[in-house]
Amino acid sequence: MKLFGRLFWSHLLASVVASACILIGVGLISPIFYNQHIDRLVGTSPENRVLRESLSQGHRRIMLLAFAASLPVALTLAAGTAYLEARRVVTAIKKLEEGGRALAGGHYDKRLELRGNDELAAIAQHFNALAESLATTEKERSALIATVAHELHTPLSALQGYTEAFAENLLPLETVTAALNRELEAMRRVTNDLLLVSRIEARGLELQLERCDSHALLVDACDRFLMLFEEKDIRLTLDALENLPPVYADYSRLLQVLSNLLSNALRYTPSGGRVVLGGRAHEETVRFWVSDSGPGIAAEHQKRIFDRFYRIDPARSRREDGSGIGLTVAKGLVEAMGGHIGLESGAGCGSTFFFTCTRFGATLS
Ligand code: ADP
Repeated sequence: MKLFGRLFWSHLLASVVASACILIGVGLISPIFYNQHIDRLVGTSPENRVLRESLSQGHRRIMLLAFAASLPVALTLAAGTAYLEARRVVTAIKKLEEGGRALAGGHYDKRLELRGNDELAAIAQHFNALAESLATTEKERSALIATVAHELHTPLSALQGYTEAFAENLLPLETVTAALNRELEAMRRVTNDLLLVSRIEARGLELQLERCDSHALLVDACDRFLMLFEEKDIRLTLDALENLPPVYADYSRLLQVLSNLLSNALRYTPSGGRVVLGGRAHEETVRFWVSDSGPGIAAEHQKRIFDRFYRIDPARSRREDGSGIGLTVAKGLVEAMGGHIGLESGAGCGSTFFFTCTRFGATLS
């Protein structure tokens, strides 16, 4: 039997059962009350017994007749309300079913209009919220495909240009080889970073969480970049105490985060500038930062700076070998380790990128 039939007949059955109960009540229980009333009216002497019995039976007959007369009206009304209620529920379920089918078919613009305050209206609201977030995800997916295609298009065009120039003997082999290697390296960086971001987002990244020496980590990061900063005449200094508390993290991933922030500081700070790599204990965490005297980042860019491929100056970022997802990777890694990443900056006053990491031991308490 279909849902409508089940709901209709179950409503009606409930009304019939209720009517039967009333009938039993009228037949068996009500005489107890009206017999007392008759006793008070005509007295309880034995000579009035026949009168009492006749009054009692008359009463009973009238009540049963009244019940029988009202039964068709009551059952008709019960059938009417059962029909309306069953239709209301089935219509709502049909709308949900249609909506579900539309979503399954990729029509994420489908919305349900169900009024009321009951559970069905609540399901419709959840359905609409789900459709909304699927539509947003779909839009982001399309935008990402377009951006990735654009990102790969730039080095591919360059590769094509160099090979054509080589074929027409316009450039020597060494120049072409160096250019091809540079472009291939740029593509490799973009694809590696993208793969890493997708693994982080799919929670498929395996982390080796363990006790990490915070000071040793900062020294390690500093050592890796010292020469590069010196070459560009930028002063790199370390601002951290040797007894900086250890953190509970994946050492190599932390180093990767610091490397991404230091590469950016190296890229965007002009020669003669300063960069500070620091760490301080802060409540249950250790706060690390990379602060530079570069151009800074204006407030309107700060909200989107951690988005994939968001660049303030795309030409400059590409020129300086930026993949455009260094900060997205850093954010994903920090958050995967339970921390928080942020930026304090303003146009013309340098940038400080910071992130937090749980102190070792804080996780155990
Ligand atoms: P990219 O590989 O382009 O550097 P990122 O994700 O690392 O990509 O950074 C995104 C953008 O943020 C950069 O293109 C740059 O415009 C800006 N940016 C990042 N770090 C700094 C910084 N230290 N100073 C100024 N701008 C920065």
